[in-house]
Amino acid sequence: MREVEFKAVNKTYPNGYVAVERLDLRVEEGEFLVLLGPSGCGKSTTLRMLAGLETVSNGDILIGGTKVNDLPPGARELGMVFQSYALYPHMTIEDNLSFGLRMAKQGERLDSREIANRVGEAAEMLDLTQLLDRKPKALSGGQRQRVAIGRALVRRPKVLLMDEPLSNLDAKLRNQMRIELRRLHELHGTTTVYVTHDQVEAMTLADRIAIMHGGILQQHAPPLEAYHNPNNPFVASFLGTPAMNLIQGKVENQKFKAGDLCFELPDHLKDTQCGNYTFGIRPENVNVVSQGGLRCDVRGVERLGDQTIYHLNAAGQEVTALRHQQIDEGFTSTTVDTSYVHISLTEPATVLFPQ
Ligand code: ADP
Repeated sequence: MREVEFKAVNKTYPNGYVAVERLDLRVEEGEFLVLLGPSGCGKSTTLRMLAGLETVSNGDILIGGTKVNDLPPGARELGMVFQSYALYPHMTIEDNLSFGLRMAKQGERLDSREIANRVGEAAEMLDLTQLLDRKPKALSGGQRQRVAIGRALVRRPKVLLMDEPLSNLDAKLRNQMRIELRRLHELHGTTTVYVTHDQVEAMTLADRIAIMHGGILQQHAPPLEAYHNPNNPFVASFLGTPAMNLIQGKVENQKFKAGDLCFELPDHLKDTQCGNYTFGIRPENVNVVSQGGLRCDVRGVERLGDQTIYHLNAAGQEVTALRHQQIDEGFTSTTVDTSYVHISLTEPATVLFPQ
């Protein structure tokens, strides 16, 4: 079994800083889990504790049901891929791939035929077979990153750990590598824990994402579930571009009020008890209507080709609307040039978070 479990894991650094707080998280065998969150939220600390590069202050980490808190990194049977590929520049790609296996301790070392088999298989899978005789400097960034992944895979790790492995690549290559990583995972099925601050990477790679903020796990769910049913305003605003509109106000008599802004709640929220809430609606769900609705001033328009983003002000509240390009009744290219539009926030895809 190659599942990973964090049980009430805490990390307090020697200076007293609590980087991870009571983390309970399970990664199933064969699952691709992405740890996602802004810089400093505790993702790398979590990964480094799993790798054995950082001690656990409290709680337990289990791999395949065995507690590994006190096992050194080499005994955890993990493969690791980091942001910097750290290939040996004077060695060929073939030697880079086999180095870890050749350097294994006497008694644990594989015979040379098995090493050659594993290197050949990894090279084939990663499309590196034609490049085995080259040195790293004769490879592109993407090819080097594939070697770094291959070097981890030849060890047949129980769990593959990746820390921002694509952040040194340019945007186009990052997109390609994302697709390759997912394909590779489907081929290999290795339990994977992947750290990133990039929500697009998380949404496209993960079976489930674990979103962290301030050392605390906010939500652990499949990407689309977290997108459509965020647990809290942090998750709501972290997933999605442009970010979800979040308006702080109160519910009274089936209406939502925030300063001068006041509108009827959509049907599915009508039974909400009175009190203070944050109202959330994604920009793509803000409906621009020809009649009725709320009148908004247009503060800015960004035309991106396939979509247009409208920055609006609704009775003092900032609202962003996103329209996919289409000839659209009530919101054609002529109407967007006006200084105001009408929107409806009474849509099914809206949420209320208690404050
Ligand atoms: P992330 O990977 O999400 O960017 P990290 O896990 O690297 O975040 O760090 C989490 C927090 O712990 C950060 O605020 C960071 O400054 C702090 N931190 C990391 N390493 C140490 C350390 N050795 N001593 C004290 N604080 C640290």
